[in-house]
Amino acid sequence: MTAIAFDNTYARQLEGFHVPWKPATAPAPRLLYANTALAAELGLDPALLQGPQAAATWAGNQLPEGAEPIAQAYAGHQFGGFSPQLGDGRALLLGEVMDTSGRRRDIAFKGSGRTPFSRGGDGKAAVGPMLREVLIGEAMHALGIPTTRALAVVATGERVMRELPLPGAVLTRVAASHLRVGTFQFYAARGDLARLRQLTDYTIHRHDPALAGRPDAPLALLQAVAQRQARLIAQWMNVGFIHGVMNTDNMALSGETIDYGPCAFMEAYNPAAVFSSIDHGGRYAYANQPHIARWNLARFAETLLPLIAGSEEEADTQRAVEQAMAVIDGFPALYEAALLDGQRAKLGLVAGSGDDAQDRQLAADWLALLEAQAVDFTLGWRRLADAAEGREQALLALFTDAAPLQAWLQRWRQRADLPLAQDGVVSEATTQRAAAMRRASPFVIPRNHRVEEALTAATMDDDLQPFQRLLAALQQPFSETPELLPYGQPAPAAVTACYQTFCGT
Ligand code: AMP
Ligand code: MG
Repeated sequence: MTAIAFDNTYARQLEGFHVPWKPATAPAPRLLYANTALAAELGLDPALLQGPQAAATWAGNQLPEGAEPIAQAYAGHQFGGFSPQLGDGRALLLGEVMDTSGRRRDIAFKGSGRTPFSRGGDGKAAVGPMLREVLIGEAMHALGIPTTRALAVVATGERVMRELPLPGAVLTRVAASHLRVGTFQFYAARGDLARLRQLTDYTIHRHDPALAGRPDAPLALLQAVAQRQARLIAQWMNVGFIHGVMNTDNMALSGETIDYGPCAFMEAYNPAAVFSSIDHGGRYAYANQPHIARWNLARFAETLLPLIAGSEEEADTQRAVEQAMAVIDGFPALYEAALLDGQRAKLGLVAGSGDDAQDRQLAADWLALLEAQAVDFTLGWRRLADAAEGREQALLALFTDAAPLQAWLQRWRQRADLPLAQDGVVSEATTQRAAAMRRASPFVIPRNHRVEEALTAATMDDDLQPFQRLLAALQQPFSETPELLPYGQPAPAAVTACYQTFCGT
């Protein structure tokens, strides 16, 4: 058995935060996916992902040497309601490794069987949702958005009972950590101040070591988490990503996107877009995501209050509340700034130049046009880059009414200092600007119908080819080669109209 150089600080330093546990045995493991690029980044022996042994390893039948599997405790607000005990009901942390860049990364299973936190669940996962995590995670990574990533997916050879019996799978997930808002909530809900302090120190050492030892470290941690979330959600919004279940147990303190369940990318621009079948009230709709991030941040702040206060004195508590509120109230500005940075790149505006309010309005008016005419979000932005070079046909073709677009384009050209091409001659500077816009606005995103097509073929026909082809396309989101064209097209409107995603259970 090939060893992995695990260094398991969570297991060793945080006693009482987890339960040692063993994965279930898979009857007939078969490797469906292995991420060799990620394995190299982690400094793993490539042999770990090859040959007959690999399936047994990543199914959990024969753990790599050095693994100390644990189920982590956490709580969480789910759709606004608090559950004091959730925890790894179908996941296990195998351990941590230092990657080739010196970053500590968790290696964890998902779907590896029941644990003491499973409640009514079977602890298992199905092939479709686990391959979905691969596709969306790798797409996000290629888009430059912080994310957990899949290292491997193994079909277990057993059926899991969902609405229909489905082939079961175990996913191996790599994360900067699995520390969540919900991890803090678990101890706050129990009034366990000693463990909250321990967890805070651990989180700071792991994610914000520069803050260690500062007298105001808990408040500074809150601020750092706020900054990471602001940047993350702005990136989601600028690619049209809808997470679908922004519960506090699914908000990672690392600032990575985590837990790809009923998530989806928007096609026609619609701020109210919701895809999740369980999100009846639209709590986690596209446009609500920044508000929910702030709400989750407030829940995180509540857990930190006694540490920010530093004593139980009334005056200290009062001051802590004010300091925490200042961070939470400051979140919208952090988010707006991050959003505007991204929008400026997409609009071809030079970073740091121009009037913020005017540029915000320019972006908002563009989005209003996309919404009013139900234009595909991804293609709309992408074709704007063509328009920068004077090629407006493809952009115009996306709109039913050209007049308001023409008016907006005129404003944009002026602001962006992009004069119309004279006799089709485009300057080198303009070409470069358009190229920069294309690096900010992808052509290939995980289109819902493509994802479904790939997962259906894998689940129903054991055919992994559509999955592999889609994955290859998603790994080059900013290219627009002829082979990629089929992956850049929106679904037929009828498909989108009834598209729903289901929790990856
Ligand atoms: P999620 O919706 O995947 O973020 O999970 C929320 C909570 O439900 C976590 O505590 C999970 O461990 C738990 N959970 C989800 N699916 C299952 C399952 N099939 N078996 C046991 N626990 C589960
Ligand atoms: Mg979760």
